[in-house]
Amino acid sequence: MASPASPPRFWIPPLWNRETHWESNIMAGIQFLADLYQGSWNGELFQSPPPPVDENKVSEILVNYRGMLDQFPASDVETLGRIPDELLSLMARDGFFGLSIPAAYGGLGLNTQEYLRVVEGLAKMDLSVALVSLAHLSIGVKGLVLFGNDEQKAAYLPHAASGSSIFAYALTEPQTGSDAQHITTRAELSDDGRTYVLNGQKTYITNANYAGAMTVFAQLDPAKPGFMGAFIVETGWDGVKIGKDMPKMGLKASSTAAVQFRDVRVPMENLLGKPGDGFKIAMTI
Ligand SMILES: Cc1cc2nc3c(=O)[nH]c(=O)nc-3n(C[C@H](O)[C@H](O)[C@H](O)COP(=O)(O)OP(=O)(O)OC[C@H]3O[C@@H](n4cnc5c(N)ncnc54)[C@H](O)[C@@H]3O)c2cc1C
Repeated sequence: MASPASPPRFWIPPLWNRETHWESNIMAGIQFLADLYQGSWNGELFQSPPPPVDENKVSEILVNYRGMLDQFPASDVETLGRIPDELLSLMARDGFFGLSIPAAYGGLGLNTQEYLRVVEGLAKMDLSVALVSLAHLSIGVKGLVLFGNDEQKAAYLPHAASGSSIFAYALTEPQTGSDAQHITTRAELSDDGRTYVLNGQKTYITNANYAGAMTVFAQLDPAKPGFMGAFIVETGWDGVKIGKDMPKMGLKASSTAAVQFRDVRVPMENLLGKPGDGFKIAMTI
């Protein structure tokens, strides 16, 4: 085994000989790997510190959640198989549906580190209840936060943050899970070019029976599998039908159900990004 003092086995051109920035980045990468192979590493390459965590804010949220569970014990909620409306209202009032949504839209604006600390804490206490806000934030509304335009954000994020519109993420279908490029739900542009007509079926959708809106993925061109759109679809629109909650071994207070779309007219303004971005959005989330 090579000792740290062994001479390098590779000849790496010195970085200062390189003329262009991209070349020096590549060489820095090779140098890093060569160093790693030799048993040392250059920590200076990792210069961006994680964002600071506001410990008071995080612990306030967790203490608050603990208090809610004292009023609504996890075992009772699990036996009920549904989060009581009073508990949902308390969570909404105290910002649980807006934890990571920017403050400009009424959320608490936690940064990623803070959000993850809260997720960890909530999950330890009771994930079954917490999942309603975590699925809403981590997958349901995430596409809108990352890819929505200003109008879409202004229209939906305040409702998402206040909990008046809980979000779900609808990708999986009865015949298609991991192989998401081959979903069969279809969105066809209407003749007047103003709406997409959505048809298809989704399954295993977390939050389905709590949701006011969903990020729904659909094929845009049958000849091009994977050329998809991501749409914000309100569950109250004509043609959206949500099934009964599926029985599960655990996480029983979390809603998991099938969703059917039959000739649902989705305004073209509700397409996230541009036509064809859907798969990228689904995978980025
Ligand atoms: C409780 C619960 C909540 C869910 N919530 C949501 C939700 O909110 N929204 C949503 O869209 N979906 C949701 N899902 C669906 C989930 O995302 C899918 O179950 C998942 O994508 C896998 O799809 P599948 O079940 O069809 O399994 P399959 O795709 O059929 O996979 C079966 C097994 O084969 C393996 N496999 C598949 N392809 C390959 C490959 N190419 N190489 C090697 N191994 C492979 C998989 O890892 C897996 O172990 C939920 C599922 C559950 C159980």
